Amino acid sequence: MDTVRPLAVVTGASSGIGRELARTFAAHGFDLVLCAEDAAVRTVADELRGRGADVTAVRADLATYDGVEQLHAAVLATRRPVAAAALNAGVGTGGAFTDTDLADHARVIDVNISGTVHLAHRLLRAMVDEDEGRLLITSSVVSMAPGPFQSVYSASKSFLQSFAQALREELKDTGVTVTSLMPGATETDFFHRAGMDDTRLGRLRHKDDPARVAQDAFEALMRGRNRVVAGSVKSRVLGAAVKAVPDRLKAAGQRYLSEPPAAAGPGRRRGRRRRRGRRPKAGRRV
Ligand code: NAP
Repeated sequence: MDTVRPLAVVTGASSGIGRELARTFAAHGFDLVLCAEDAAVRTVADELRGRGADVTAVRADLATYDGVEQLHAAVLATRRPVAAAALNAGVGTGGAFTDTDLADHARVIDVNISGTVHLAHRLLRAMVDEDEGRLLITSSVVSMAPGPFQSVYSASKSFLQSFAQALREELKDTGVTVTSLMPGATETDFFHRAGMDDTRLGRLRHKDDPARVAQDAFEALMRGRNRVVAGSVKSRVLGAAVKAVPDRLKAAGQRYLSEPPAAAGPGRRRGRRRRRGRRPKAGRRV
């Protein structure tokens, strides 16, 4: 059946910012292909079908080559051009680099970097052929600073920030735009899943509302903006101010926010064992 409704792809749509992005797209008349790893993505799909959107839910592990191909096959199966895509799925892992498992850091790279690059390549080719499309890549305000005690995660976001800006420049003479979304600390499952509940950042009260972040992101995406520091005024001010701060000071600030209490003192190795025991969704141990 022909349809005039545009189609959007959202990854990481089962919770947090991605779920709010999916809701925002649906509220603006988009049909959707949603992806996450867990069955909760189907619940989000059901909710949005109830609001009139045509929704395909894909359970796929975007840390793997096959998972990204599975999602792409589902997009192709709609036989519709992708008007907008939010490459948003991401994971973190907190803790001292040498005290944490290599497999956890590798998974951060696989989801945040490899999966995003792979999916961007698949979707952008078709968008360029159509000479039309809007691509959103979820980076972070931490992309602008070295991130002690979430070193690989922060570096993965620096990669995505650079990647998004580079693609944007490459595509500037086409009808395709690339926007980087840079949220500040946002109230989602992210910090718990990253094993950062006991850090100052994890315990921070008044984190940003993911619905507000998604709304800001959607508006910036539709306007074809370069980047958006989304969320509260506090996050926007922080995002603007951090540009002027030297890396050494930014690293010290990130350490203050991200260092687990157990890593700071003599109980460090005991703390490491505790943290390992409770990190959700840990990958294989290496
Ligand atoms: P979240 O609630 O934990 O959501 C993460 C989403 O990514 C979930 O839908 C999750 O699906 C999906 N995901 C994770 N691993 C996946 C995999 N291997 N394959 C497919 N999907 C996967 O956290 P969030 O805060 O909304 O995070 C969304 C994005 O915002 C991330 O890229 C994060 O880095 C970024 N960000 C967050 C903050 C913050 O303060 N929260 C700040 C800046 C940037 P499953 O549950 O099914 O695994």
